[in-house]
Amino acid sequence: MAVPFRRTSKTRKRKRRTHFKLAVPGMVRCPQCGEMKLSHRVCKECGYYKGEEVVND
Ligand SMILES: [Zn+2]
Repeated sequence: MAVPFRRTSKTRKRKRRTHFKLAVPGMVRCPQCGEMKLSHRVCKECGYYKGEEVVND
């Protein structure tokens, strides 16, 4: 089995981990109410999509 030849330095490890993001991708802020919602989906908070289309509850 292959084994790493060199120990990964702190800097290298940290540089790699800059790509780990906290937020779930595909989430955007609703332009209508400002809540976080999934992109390309109707906002579940206000029922708006593309500014106008309304889902009434
Ligand atoms: Zn909304």
